[in-house]
Amino acid sequence: MASSPSGDVASPAFNGPMPLHDVVPVLIIGAGPIGLLSAVLLNKLGVKSLIVEKYPQRLTAPKAHALGPRALEILRQAGVDIPSLRQRGTKRSEGRTVSVVTSLAGQELRQYPYERSDAGALDVTPELLHNVAQPMTEQHLLEHLGGQVEIRKGHELVSCVQSPAVVDVTIQERATSKQYIVRANHVVACDGARSKMRQLLGIECDEQSTPQMLMTIEISADLTDLVKHRRRILYNILDPEAHGVLIGYDLSKKQVLIHGFDVNTHPISTWDEEQCRKLVEIAIGQKVPFTIDSFRPWALQSRIAYTYSKGNCFLVGDAAHSFPLALASG
Ligand SMILES: Cc1cc2nc3c(=O)[nH]c(=O)nc-3n(C[C@H](O)[C@H](O)[C@H](O)COP(=O)(O)OP(=O)(O)OC[C@H]3O[C@@H](n4cnc5c(N)ncnc54)[C@H](O)[C@@H]3O)c2cc1C
Repeated sequence: MASSPSGDVASPAFNGPMPLHDVVPVLIIGAGPIGLLSAVLLNKLGVKSLIVEKYPQRLTAPKAHALGPRALEILRQAGVDIPSLRQRGTKRSEGRTVSVVTSLAGQELRQYPYERSDAGALDVTPELLHNVAQPMTEQHLLEHLGGQVEIRKGHELVSCVQSPAVVDVTIQERATSKQYIVRANHVVACDGARSKMRQLLGIECDEQSTPQMLMTIEISADLTDLVKHRRRILYNILDPEAHGVLIGYDLSKKQVLIHGFDVNTHPISTWDEEQCRKLVEIAIGQKVPFTIDSFRPWALQSRIAYTYSKGNCFLVGDAAHSFPLALASG
């Protein structure tokens, strides 16, 4: 195991069932964009942090595709190099417009700007929206972490005990099932919409009562020829069978089709790759070679925690608030 970051932590007697493994000023749960950015910001303030991330590797299916002006402003203030981040995304001209189509190869019914990205928007923000796939943003943040951050992948939060001065957090290394304790002055929970930390803290949420079921189908295809006359950030597909949003993370190689479905008529157990392939064929609307890299059902449910902190633990990012996608334009 990598050496532990040390910090100036008040240390009440520890009588836990396991030895103390690490003592850190800040423990961050989750290495999504918000966990990584939190570490970058803390590093900038000279505060050491330890990040534990459940998965050994990033999931391949990208989620966020657009970095809005406010996100870019915050990244810029944190010292993140924005020009090179933009280079990891698509060309600006390809990330501006949304199309409403019958299928990718079919009729374009409408087009509209994804968000204001005309020169006039520069009167109110120095940073215009950019189309950068989430794994690229995460990679960029990883490269900006700085020397005071340690990251442990494949380690997950199990439980925690709070006292006024410190939080003792049980972490499990997933490959070995070995558990150990990290004592932190503060815990920043960036563990996403289904935050375990939020549950452990007993923080309730105001949430949408009926979630909407969506299937994320991750595709690898070269669609550049097909859409060369209309390269867009998003395609809203209105086909009655294959309706959904096709996100063009990179139209030459990686896209995602997000398709809403009704679990009563189409239970999750009935989904297979063949079904996903059929939907993608209809959504594309023309014979193009592609592979289905993954498909994953998930419940879209807007959710806001009633409080973002409890004692020395804080909820940040989707752990605190997750919003509906609104046709991926939310
Ligand atoms: C299809 C789609 C498109 C989207 N498009 C956009 C967009 O264009 N622009 C935008 O701003 N947002 C978009 N979003 C929303 C955006 O992806 C989220 O707001 C963002 O990922 C939240 O980041 P986060 O770090 O808070 O949480 P997450 O990205 O969910 O990261 C949480 C991390 O915590 C880890 N974790 C979970 N539990 C534990 C545990 N017990 N122990 C340790 N680690 C744990 C997870 O493995 C994960 O790495 C989109 C979302 C989806 C699904």
